[in-house]
Amino acid sequence: MKALKMLNSGRMLRYSTAFIRRGTALSSSSLNGAGYASTSARLSTTTMKSSKTAGGGKSNIKLYGVAAASLVTGYGAGCYQSNNYDKHDERQERVLPSGIPRSCCDCEAGHEETCSKENAREIVDSLEKIVGKEYVLKDFDAKFYCKGARLGQGSALCVVRPGTIIEAIECLKAVAKGGGTVIPQGANTGLTGGSVPRESSKDNRPPVVISMRRLKDIIPIDGGDKMFCFAGAGIMDVNRKASEYSREGHSVLGSIFLNPSTAAGVAFSSGGTQIRKGPVYTDRALYCRVSRDGQSVEVVNKLGIMVEDKSGNKIDLSQDKLLNILSEGGNSQLTLKTDVSSPDGKAYASDVNYPDHVCKSDDSVARFNADTKGLEVNRSEGKVLILASIHDTFPKPKRSRLFWISCDSLTTVLEIRRNVCLASASDLPSSCEYMDRDSFDVIDRSGRILCAVINLFGIGEVVRLLWDVKLKIESIPGCELVCDKVLHIFNNVFPKPLPSNLMYTGHAYDHHLMLEVGDYGDGCEERLLRRLKEFISERPENSIKVEECKSASEIAAVKSFRFVAAPAFRTWCVGENTQGISVDYALPKNGGETPNLAGDDAATPMKRMRYSHLGCNVVHEDIAYALGVDVHKEKMALKKSVEFSGGKLPAEHGIGLEYKAPDDTRSRWMSMDPSNTMNPGIGGLPSAKDYKE
Ligand SMILES: Cc1cc2nc3c(=O)[nH]c(=O)nc-3n(C[C@H](O)[C@H](O)[C@H](O)COP(=O)(O)OP(=O)(O)OC[C@H]3O[C@@H](n4cnc5c(N)ncnc54)[C@H](O)[C@@H]3O)c2cc1C
Repeated sequence: MKALKMLNSGRMLRYSTAFIRRGTALSSSSLNGAGYASTSARLSTTTMKSSKTAGGGKSNIKLYGVAAASLVTGYGAGCYQSNNYDKHDERQERVLPSGIPRSCCDCEAGHEETCSKENAREIVDSLEKIVGKEYVLKDFDAKFYCKGARLGQGSALCVVRPGTIIEAIECLKAVAKGGGTVIPQGANTGLTGGSVPRESSKDNRPPVVISMRRLKDIIPIDGGDKMFCFAGAGIMDVNRKASEYSREGHSVLGSIFLNPSTAAGVAFSSGGTQIRKGPVYTDRALYCRVSRDGQSVEVVNKLGIMVEDKSGNKIDLSQDKLLNILSEGGNSQLTLKTDVSSPDGKAYASDVNYPDHVCKSDDSVARFNADTKGLEVNRSEGKVLILASIHDTFPKPKRSRLFWISCDSLTTVLEIRRNVCLASASDLPSSCEYMDRDSFDVIDRSGRILCAVINLFGIGEVVRLLWDVKLKIESIPGCELVCDKVLHIFNNVFPKPLPSNLMYTGHAYDHHLMLEVGDYGDGCEERLLRRLKEFISERPENSIKVEECKSASEIAAVKSFRFVAAPAFRTWCVGENTQGISVDYALPKNGGETPNLAGDDAATPMKRMRYSHLGCNVVHEDIAYALGVDVHKEKMALKKSVEFSGGKLPAEHGIGLEYKAPDDTRSRWMSMDPSNTMNPGIGGLPSAKDYKE
């Protein structure tokens, strides 16, 4: 226990950095030209550079000026409008991709009457003793942590923000013992409501959000081949750390500009763009499970790590000893590394079979959230509390090239997918992203400001800060829509989000691919591009147009354009006064056609955005409908249609409150958390203690 107490992430970073050894229009010429230096890990530097190349200081000042003026004017206008918001206005009845006012599948959710006031007080007192009063947030301060990025909103007894692993364990114990429930939270960018308290519930236990965001340290191990990540460590930070070793981190999500946490990636098996690496996956983790009676907490160590002294001798390792050594610090003679002789050390720290799996064309899907394979932490959705996990890093290509490929039909897109991108597991592209015309139009109409902000500041803290400000404003009653109104009103004041040639092609074609190809020194880049060239040569003229993004600013612009799709949709719905629904699904590896919307009586969508991680056949649909349409019915019909075509949903956004989990997933979760203390109510499970109906 003493050892655990010492396993303090802040302190550990200091120790670890001290004692872990560091050492340790298509023409053939456009497919042959020089590329750029690197991919995701260098995103922020390329975007920062791009802001300079895009106009330098003066234009930046202008942009700041316009942004500030827009925000102030818009905020005023929005507040005015919000204050004059008629309570019976039909807009309050509509559904937005934000969880307002209801979710798709009705689960039991929130708490009516909590446990006794004394119990609740006791929990809060204990938490304050463990982490200090400033890290136990209540009432207004807690609101920000209690509203999901898209879905879910509720109230918690409090939000606790442990700063160390031992504090996190102690917090979990205190809540379990006091009869409360726990909702683990990372960066709260999850889209399916699983990281925030529930709106209403039959459960009478008070929920406590444990925000793991302060445990954000990353320790490179095995010479940078792997990263030891504390639960709240951001995936963008992992990429940055890996790039110090000329390697890449394990994931790039659409939300990377918000730096989502590694633990949540594991808890969801989050996906993203990295087709060579697969979804987040690890069998090496440190985590807590609550006992069957709900009263005690077990720490499970599946890290498979060991410590060596300076002569390379392994130090005898019991779990407590390992934790002691980690927490003692000041011992610069010691190195943390994988214990290859232990079963846990031999376990996978990524989905190593993914390239073969994704290239095998059959009627299974490449990945989905309800998959039950692997160590229980994978896709656990908050049913255990993850404290730390180990992740592989990946070779960085010598150079990367990004191509914008516009096609005349979805059939052509799917043929490129099969015959060019997935033809061989040994020369997969780094990423292969798709979007249709409606996605292009909506991003251009409502996403320019976010694109400009990302291009200006790069992916990093500033963007995260501005996003948090947006969420904070939206958590003020009456201001839920203000920011999106402002973003929509002032969108067109901002410059076009893509270079003029791509804007032109974007409007001229209905289907677009963003294909990123890396040179890994084994000829894979050459082979892949040769296949692309051959494919195009066999097609009618003008059915495909390929443009290579040459400059850093073009590359950054294309990437941010893709990343802002989801927030741009919400802004569009608010600005155009429509309803909106979002669905995330995986289609069979040998499929990919657009699923039908509801039958004869289907409402006609105003926009149907389809954008996907094309290589994996993981699709996101954002569909806008006029006010008055029963969007719940439309959504359920689409879900049925996806399943009918052999697809699975959700694919990567997590089951959360949005979906009903299949029986085998539910059983898996129930065995991890028999007392239903952790994240009760997800996946349609009962929310009461012991899963009582
Ligand atoms: C603009 C935007 C784009 C996105 N694009 C993508 C995309 O391309 N691909 C994709 O997969 N997702 C995407 N997402 C969804 C989201 O970013 C990912 O699901 C991400 O992994 C969530 O990380 P988080 O730290 O914010 O998790 P949170 O939202 O805080 O939590 C998510 C889940 O993980 C659980 N959890 C969190 N921390 C722990 C812990 N320490 N122990 C146990 N359980 C824990 C929570 O209980 C919850 O169930 C996008 C989101 C946005 C807003």
